[in-house]
Amino acid sequence: MNKLTVSDLDVAGKKVLVRVDFNVPLNESKEITDDTRIRAALPTIKHLADNGAKVILMSHLGRPKGKVVEDLRLDPVAKRLADLLGLEVLKADDCIGSDAKEAVEKMETGQVLILENTRFNPEEEKNDPQFSKELAGLADYYVNDAFGAAHRAHASTAGVTEYLTSACGLLMEKEISIMGKALSNPERPFVAIIGGAKVSDKISVIENLLGKVDTLIIGGGMANTFLKAKDYQLGKSLVEADKVELAMSLINKAETQGVKLMLPTDLVVAKEFKADSEHKNVEATQVPEEWMALDIGVETAQAYANAVSQAKTVVWNGPMGVFEMDVFAKGTESVAKALAESKATSIVGGGDSVAAVEKMGVAEQISHISTGGGASLEFLEGKVLPGVDALTDKE
Ligand code: ADP
Ligand code: MG
Repeated sequence: MNKLTVSDLDVAGKKVLVRVDFNVPLNESKEITDDTRIRAALPTIKHLADNGAKVILMSHLGRPKGKVVEDLRLDPVAKRLADLLGLEVLKADDCIGSDAKEAVEKMETGQVLILENTRFNPEEEKNDPQFSKELAGLADYYVNDAFGAAHRAHASTAGVTEYLTSACGLLMEKEISIMGKALSNPERPFVAIIGGAKVSDKISVIENLLGKVDTLIIGGGMANTFLKAKDYQLGKSLVEADKVELAMSLINKAETQGVKLMLPTDLVVAKEFKADSEHKNVEATQVPEEWMALDIGVETAQAYANAVSQAKTVVWNGPMGVFEMDVFAKGTESVAKALAESKATSIVGGGDSVAAVEKMGVAEQISHISTGGGASLEFLEGKVLPGVDALTDKE
């Protein structure tokens, strides 16, 4: 990587402003239901605190749309972070202004302070220069460890870099190096599995990956549009009629590029979009008129699992079926298990895919689970992430 990283900085006695992604899910009692993102930032925070920095954290939480929303304050996050770190975590009630400044002034080396939700200020998402300058004014260095927000050019992810030497955090570095290597210099065979509801969400990912992978596996609702392109009848299944032609061109592109494109040969079809609907396994050419495909079939799941087991690098984005309903989760489960059992470098990105891997209990056996849904998708599309691009280049 050609960007400064946190290990390049001499942080002893310095104030370091760190953008983390603490956008965690909260329940109605404001309890954190999944602290994965907080845990993922611990290595950078510990590194800085252990090296005598004053660690000033900032993050967004939810969508307060530029206003103070009491339920979206970062206090529960500060508390959880303190538990995980085994350290006191100070908290300011704003991310700029006198609250923030006074809190920073009182800090001692090795202490951790968390500023209030950056999105309480409308200037954050507008990437306002004055606001960025105020944030930057709190510190000597800036570190971005918020991979999950790196696809946004906001004040706290991009604007601040105009005013401070800016380095990449350890989580950010890990995300980019693992996914970057998979895309630029993968161990082969390189297999990508793309699923989810719609082709339209993932066109750019498929196009980018077609130039890189040996095998491209398509599952989930989006497979229906590809099957439609092959003139199959799909009953009441989700099909994007306006994307059938595009699916056809992707099929052709795979062929000219020598990429093996795998589509479902059988499907689980149901009468209704319901967990207790009548359902059966049919050949992909035999979807009954009034039925809908909600999962890949048994034979397809086996074929996909085989392809995964022969791979050296696997990237997975998008479930194979409506995995939220147990009867239609089997295809996703087969792929998840194959990924867990394989010795390949395995990378899973995408909010629902990560949820599926966790639901199946195989998260521990995956090489890398990306903490960024949207950001990992844009990375797989081959886009430059503004939050990374803005960091200081290495000499
Ligand atoms: P990710 O968040 O991992 O990127 P997506 O958001 O693209 O994944 O897709 C996940 C959604 O796709 C799930 O809610 C799942 O129910 C839905 N889905 C998968 N297969 C089908 C299908 N055959 N028909 C309708 N929806 C589907
Ligand atoms: Mg999703």
